[in-house]
Amino acid sequence: MGTIIDITKAENSKINSVDFDNLDFGKIFTDHMFSCEFKNGKWQTPKIMPYGPLTIDPSARVFHYGQAVFEGMKAFKDQQNDVWLFRPEDNLERINISSERLAMPAFPKDYFFEGLKALLKLDDAWIKNTEGSSLYIRPFIIATEPAISASPAAEYKFMIILSPAKAYYAGEVRVKIAENFSRASSGGVGYAKAAGNYAAQFYPTALANEEGYQQIIWTDASTHEYLEEAGTMNIFFRINDTLITAPTSDRILDGITRKSIIQLAKDNNIEVEVRPIKVGELVEAAKNGSLKEIFGSGTAAVVNPILGFKHKDFKHELPKLEDTYATMFKTKLNAIQYNTTEDPHGWRYKI
Ligand SMILES: *Cc1c(COP(=O)(O)O)cnc(C)c1O
Repeated sequence: MGTIIDITKAENSKINSVDFDNLDFGKIFTDHMFSCEFKNGKWQTPKIMPYGPLTIDPSARVFHYGQAVFEGMKAFKDQQNDVWLFRPEDNLERINISSERLAMPAFPKDYFFEGLKALLKLDDAWIKNTEGSSLYIRPFIIATEPAISASPAAEYKFMIILSPAKAYYAGEVRVKIAENFSRASSGGVGYAKAAGNYAAQFYPTALANEEGYQQIIWTDASTHEYLEEAGTMNIFFRINDTLITAPTSDRILDGITRKSIIQLAKDNNIEVEVRPIKVGELVEAAKNGSLKEIFGSGTAAVVNPILGFKHKDFKHELPKLEDTYATMFKTKLNAIQYNTTEDPHGWRYKI
């Protein structure tokens, strides 16, 4: 409280030029953005200004060494037009964990929450309460100091930009289980939302796309025997009625959707096993018919069902079930997010 934010309002809103029924994910941005600079060893007065291009020196570290981290969150509007976030303290905690790994300064909690509240109030009209609508929130930090020596920068920019989103539909997703490529290695940056982690996934994913697979299931870098994540999501397997997901580690990102699903499973008396799971076990379960579902979890889609997978020469299509865990978890999480049900764990955060 009491944080001073320097606010410059946009003169005109772009909102009337936006077709909210046909939104491509992450392509349209709201009228304002939040920006806070780190220099002389501290975060300066936070600012909100009209959304627009930045001027950054070409020698800034972010362009050369990828010193950058980000987060992904959503705001939801209920039928009374109240706006809610979902477990936002965890996003702040995680961006600071990511920053620490990339030798970047932690961002203060009051700046984060006061900045988010002021920004969301200014751009409130961009949050629709129609079914499936939300506002995607992208906080990120880049190293802006003009100097290309290979060492941590002394200057950074923390920003938040907002993008209106419809219900996310990834289309039919079949996945290839990685045999050679890996997303993360032990001792590396896999647990951080480091910008470069995504860049490194594009090429293997493009190769998988050419073979007709939309995503890759990443396996551990040393043996490629353990199933770790799906694309940019955490991954769950349902074998018979047991839900299985890998434990978080320095290679597996601690997803907020993942841990919420684990909690909801426990609340609903679904057996959950958080343990390493081998490709061999998955193939065996596929062969003997006990593999019922595979789905990814993450903020954008909440839950993303996977229809089939390939591992080496083995191809498998998942059964088409009437009542899936995937749909059940998505419905329950959305109900909490849109304030249409109780919130026993205190996950909602009112703006
Ligand atoms: C962001 C991310 C996730 C999902 O995290 P959520 O908090 O659920 O959105 C999973 N895996 C990777 C690699 C990620 O970057």
